[in-house]
Amino acid sequence: MRIDGVTEELLAGPTVGTLLSYGTRLLCDAGIEAAAREAAWILESALGRSALTLRLNACDLVHERDRARAVELLTRRATREPLQYVLGTQEFCGRLFRVMSNVLIPRPETELLIDEVVRRVPTDQSGIMIDIGTGSGCLAITLAGRFENARIVAIDMSRGALDVARCNAAEHELSDRVDWVQGDVLSALRQERLMGKVCVIVANPPYIPQGELDRLQPEVAHYEPRLALNGGPDGLGVHRRIIAEAKDYLVSGGVLALEVGMGQAQAVQSELERVGYIPGGIRADEAGIGRIVTALRGAKQE
Ligand code: GLN
Repeated sequence: MRIDGVTEELLAGPTVGTLLSYGTRLLCDAGIEAAAREAAWILESALGRSALTLRLNACDLVHERDRARAVELLTRRATREPLQYVLGTQEFCGRLFRVMSNVLIPRPETELLIDEVVRRVPTDQSGIMIDIGTGSGCLAITLAGRFENARIVAIDMSRGALDVARCNAAEHELSDRVDWVQGDVLSALRQERLMGKVCVIVANPPYIPQGELDRLQPEVAHYEPRLALNGGPDGLGVHRRIIAEAKDYLVSGGVLALEVGMGQAQAVQSELERVGYIPGGIRADEAGIGRIVTALRGAKQE
């Protein structure tokens, strides 16, 4: 018999072991592939003990408060809420970032954006760098950590996202290096006298074509912010705006690095060339998908 999704066995006297097998079954029934591994991670977080300690102490009784917390987190994951929202964190470029439902979960392929900038820009660069659509702040904060003399401006339309990003910057003790701006692409910066002064602009813009949003896996389609995913009819609406607006802000030779979705790299590169940027190449991710398109602002642009 089940009471509120919890078996009587668990209510009677749950141990680490019974909780782990309950969690594994629950996640497995929800269609989650790595059910055992994810159940262990969730218990680690809910019980505040390492996976190894849990495994070595499978017979330990679990305190009622911890049991309730573990069941709550496991149940959230069983609705296909992303593991990162359930645990509240995601690692990016060696730092841990807080994530919740108002920010996109940082992806490993986005680390390539940082890599492309690091390859092109000296680490003692002292200019201004902009991150458009900062979300959790993962790009802005990583740039602040890598380029100690640079000033970072991070923009997002969502106030909730900026709150999360600010909190992440504080946790990494980089708050004084990043300015947070609420706005749409670069429009909010017009009064800031940054035209022609920016050395790097990065963005991981929304790039899922509107019609494909509902076909994404449930974790993404039902839980991640639409604002962070929806790239309009062909997925490249925000890229075009960034390409058009960024050229007024970049110094000559300044770097623009954009993440793109599968099959979009060539179109973005062509748009950059059409507008007068110097192409800087397409970087493929581990799956061989053209993922980061880089360009330099030419000297003689209109
Ligand atoms: N810059 C953040 C990231 O790359 C958010 C991107 C977005 O919301 N589209 O994770």
